[in-house]
Amino acid sequence: MKRKIISVKKLAKKYTTSSKYALNHIDLSINEGSIFGLLGPNGAGKSTFINILAGLVNKTSGEVFVCGVNLDTDPKTVRGNLGIVPQEIMIDPFFTPMEIMDIQAGMYAVEKKNIRNQEILNTLGLGEKADAYARSLSGGMKRRLMVAKAMVHNPPVLILDEPTAGVDVELRAKLWKSIKELNKKGTTIILTTHYLKEAELLCDEIAVINKGKVIANDTKTNLLKILEEKEVKVEFSNKVKNLPKKIKDFCILKDDQSATLKFNKNEINTAELIKEFINSKIDLKDITTKESDLEDIFIKLLKN
Ligand code: ADP
Repeated sequence: MKRKIISVKKLAKKYTTSSKYALNHIDLSINEGSIFGLLGPNGAGKSTFINILAGLVNKTSGEVFVCGVNLDTDPKTVRGNLGIVPQEIMIDPFFTPMEIMDIQAGMYAVEKKNIRNQEILNTLGLGEKADAYARSLSGGMKRRLMVAKAMVHNPPVLILDEPTAGVDVELRAKLWKSIKELNKKGTTIILTTHYLKEAELLCDEIAVINKGKVIANDTKTNLLKILEEKEVKVEFSNKVKNLPKKIKDFCILKDDQSATLKFNKNEINTAELIKEFINSKIDLKDITTKESDLEDIFIKLLKN
């Protein structure tokens, strides 16, 4: 089993100015080595979660562990284990990328033998720009420099808050490549996004939060499977003792009056199943289909 690099238990946050919980007692864990996507519409609680980890917002209750260290008892070590890339670009234009990295290393008191600023800049495709003035960098380069800066103290976990918000298509691809590269070298990545395509391309694990609650938390593969599932309930006009063989394969619930079928939309469709009933001379009184809430959320997110 993979090690949980981040684990939160019953984590809650209620801002003093609000009557609602921004995070409503959530349980969440993140596997070491993953690229974890935190998805959800605006106001879901994503930033609150990230800011609690970063030590920028105080939680109301619950527990947070990073690399097994409790945030309450050792916040300094927790902070040292995290690299945070905020949404806004904050870079002094009068320094070169290498100078910016050196200053950051000083702030984190990184030991000389552990400084690998050139290597980090190389990984992020900024190797050749190490000694150029930051003001001469393109917007995309500046954003990658923000990621490089967050990696100076070699944190095992890198958190990116909406990494590609307002970023053009070409830069997005470059940034994704850099993120994958860092992950390949061993860094666990957590990113928030309300851009579903980004999560689909990058993440292997996904949690969806809405109104301060975790409404889904699984591998991307499993979540996509849920999306392809459909549930249909049929009610019979007369009592039915035995279902046709093909129907039985999809049946999850049955009594004399009704049956509930669950199936993958790619394998079979509702019309084909109905035909099976007709061929077996079973009269149907009613048919209802149920789409999952998760699907609604995803569709909503896709439209953004
Ligand atoms: P997201 O990042 O998913 O958009 P946030 O964590 O920013 O969501 O917000 C979650 C909820 O908390 C929202 O209802 C938001 O209005 C509220 N909230 C966020 N920050 C503050 C704050 N500083 N004071 C009061 N309420 C806040």
